[in-house]
Amino acid sequence: VIDIGLPEHSKVTTCAYCGVGCSFKAEMRGEEVVRMVPWKDGKANRGHSCVKGRFAWGYATHRDRILNPMIREKITDPWREVSWEEAFAHTARELRRIQHQYGREAIGGITSSRCTNEETYLVQKLVRAGFRNNNVDTCARVCHSPTGYGLGQAFGTSAGTQDFDSVEDTDVMIVIGANPTDGHPVFASRMKKRLRQGARLIVIDPRRIDLVRTPHVEAAHHLPLKPGTNVAVLTAMAHVIVTEGLCDERFIRERCDWSEFEDWAAFVAEERHGPEATAAYTGVDAEALRQAARLFATGGNGAIYYGLGVTEHSQGSTAVMALANLAMATGNIGRRGVGVNPLRGQNNVQGSCDMGSFPHELPGYRHISGDETRQIFEKLWGVELDSEPGLRIPNMLDAAVHGNFRGLYVQGEDILQSDPDTKHVAAGLAAMECVIVHDLFLNETANYAHVFLPGSTFLEKDGTFTNAERRINRVRKVMSPKNGYADWEVTLKLAEALGLDWSYRHPSEIMDEIAATTPSFAGVNYAMLDQKGSVQWPCNASVPDGTPIMHIDGFVRGRGKFIRTEYVATDEKTGPRFPLLLTTGRILSQYNVGAQTRRTANSTWHAEDRLEVHPHDAEQRGIRDGELVKLASRSGATALRARITDRVATGVVYTTFHHPDTQANVITTDYTDWATNCPEYKVTAVQVSPANGP
Ligand code: SF4
Repeated sequence: VIDIGLPEHSKVTTCAYCGVGCSFKAEMRGEEVVRMVPWKDGKANRGHSCVKGRFAWGYATHRDRILNPMIREKITDPWREVSWEEAFAHTARELRRIQHQYGREAIGGITSSRCTNEETYLVQKLVRAGFRNNNVDTCARVCHSPTGYGLGQAFGTSAGTQDFDSVEDTDVMIVIGANPTDGHPVFASRMKKRLRQGARLIVIDPRRIDLVRTPHVEAAHHLPLKPGTNVAVLTAMAHVIVTEGLCDERFIRERCDWSEFEDWAAFVAEERHGPEATAAYTGVDAEALRQAARLFATGGNGAIYYGLGVTEHSQGSTAVMALANLAMATGNIGRRGVGVNPLRGQNNVQGSCDMGSFPHELPGYRHISGDETRQIFEKLWGVELDSEPGLRIPNMLDAAVHGNFRGLYVQGEDILQSDPDTKHVAAGLAAMECVIVHDLFLNETANYAHVFLPGSTFLEKDGTFTNAERRINRVRKVMSPKNGYADWEVTLKLAEALGLDWSYRHPSEIMDEIAATTPSFAGVNYAMLDQKGSVQWPCNASVPDGTPIMHIDGFVRGRGKFIRTEYVATDEKTGPRFPLLLTTGRILSQYNVGAQTRRTANSTWHAEDRLEVHPHDAEQRGIRDGELVKLASRSGATALRARITDRVATGVVYTTFHHPDTQANVITTDYTDWATNCPEYKVTAVQVSPANGP
C-alpha cells in the first residue's frame, strides 16, 4: 500500500493526451498532485479514464524538465542559461535580424496540438501580426489535416459530426484505420458496451485489432486490406450499395446535390470499382466486402469511426471524402447514432485546427484571401494582413534548404522525431539561423535549436482543449508554472519583445477575443464553461447550448457534396529488395513519441517498441520471437525486437513508435497526401532480417 496522504484541495481539469478529452479531478496537497481521479461529471468520460491519464501528472515534476531559458550562437556550442528577459530580447533581435537580412517571409511558426486553444490562437496571431506573414502550420499537418480538407469539401466544416453519446444509438459501426482500444480507450469502452448490446461491427484494418475479437464482442466482418488501399475498398463498398439499389434516395434528394450524386453513382458503379475487380490488389475477399457493404447500408443507424490509418496516406483526403460519400449515400448523417467521426489523436488537434493554425486559414476555417474575414482581424489587431497563404511545414523545411527561410518558432512539437523523412527535417533545421524550441524537455528538435524556451504542462495553466467531438473543455491551473511562465505568457512576452502591444492578463481574455472573431465560438466564455462544464461548437446566439450533432437540417455548405474518389496506388512499391509493407500504430500505455508517458509511472510498461511479423514471413527469414531484427527501407534502417503473430497478414509488418531508439521515421518515406501534405506514415516498403545476419 502506498501512502499518498490526504488531499487538501482539488480542481477539475482535462487530460492532455488523446482526443477523448477526459475530465479529471486533480487532488492536491499544497502544490503537489497526489492523484488524478476521473471526474464523474466529465461529459466525455463520465468517471472513466485510462492508465495514461491517471498518471499524467508524473511528467510535470520529472527531473528532465528544463526550467530555465537557454541560448547558444551555434548548434555545436554548449547551451547557456539566461534570464527570461535576455531570452526574449535575444530571440526578438534574431528574428528581426533575419527578416531584415532575408525578407519578411524568412521566418515562421508551428503551433502545438498539445497546447490550449488560447495558446494556439496566440502563436498564429504572433506569426500573422508579428512576423507579418502566414507561415504558420500545426502538428495536425502530420495527422488529421486530410480530415480538415475532406470533411470540409463534403460537408462544409472540418470536424466530426457527432458527440460520443451518439454511439448509444448506433446499430452498425465501421471502424477503419483506428485502434480505439489502445488509442482512445475510454471511448472504446463505450463502443464495446454498445456492441455487447447487439450493435454490429465492421473493422477495416490490415491488422486484427483487439476490437475484432474481444470478450463478448466479435466483429461481423474484418476486412484486412493491404496497406494503402483504403480508397479502393471504400469505393468498392459504395459500388455494392449503388449497384444493389441500397442508397437512401430520399435523404440524398432532400440533402445533397442530386446531379453530383448521379455523377458519383455512375462512377462507383463502373465494374472496375467492384469488389471482384479490386480484390486482387486490396487483398479483401469480394464476398466479405459485399456483405459488409450490405450490412452498413441496411443495418440501421450506421456510424463511421476512423483514425490515422485513413489520413496518413498519399490519398488520405480522398479516403476521408470516400467515408463522407458512404455516409451520405446511406443517409447516415444528421441524427443520433450515425455520422463520420474522426478519432483525434492529440488532446487538442481539433482545437489547433479550429484556431487558425493552417497557413491558408484564419480561426474558424476561413480562407486568408477573404477580404471580409481579414478585415475583422485587421481591425482588432491593428495591422494589415497578408492575403496569400503561407508555407506548410515541409515547405518551410524545403525553403530553408533551397531558399531563404531562416527562423522557426516551434511550440510543443518535436518535428525531428515526429515528422517524416528525418534526414530532410534535419537538413532544413540545420540550414536555419534561429530555431526556437518551446517545450518541456530537450527533445530531438532541440539538437538543432539556438533558443530553448521552457514550456509548461497542462497542470500549470488555464485554458481550453477541444476534443474529438468538438467539446470545449476547461483546463485549470492546479500548480504554479515550475518554469515561471505558462506557455501563453511565453508567447505574449515574445510578442512584446517584438514590439507588439498585447495586454492579456488571463487566458479568459484570449477566449473572449476568439469569441469576438470566430462565429462558431461566439457564445463561448469561461463563465459559461464553468457553469455548463463544457460545450460543443458551434456555440453562438443561434445555438447557445452548443451543437452535439451537426448537419441535422442541412449541411454547413448547404447541400452535401458527393465527390469521385479515384483510387491511385501509392508510389511506394514493394519489390524484391523491400517485399513487405510496414504500418504503424500505438499501444495503450504510451502516447505518440512517448516524451510524456516515458516520464510517468507508465514507463515500465512496454519499455520498447516491437515489430509484429507474421509467422510465415518470420519463418521464411529465419526470425525467432523476441529476436533483434533489422528493419530496412529505401529511406534508412533501424533495429528492434520481433514479435511473431498472426495479428498481421503475411506481407505486412507493424510497429509502434513510442521510443526514440526505434527511429520509425528514419524508415518512412517522404510521400504525402496530395491535398494536405500529410505524410504517408502508414505504408512503407521494407525488408526484415535477423540483426546479426549477413
Ligand atoms: Fe482519457 Fe485519452 Fe486521457 Fe486516456 S489518454 S484518460 S482516454 S483523454
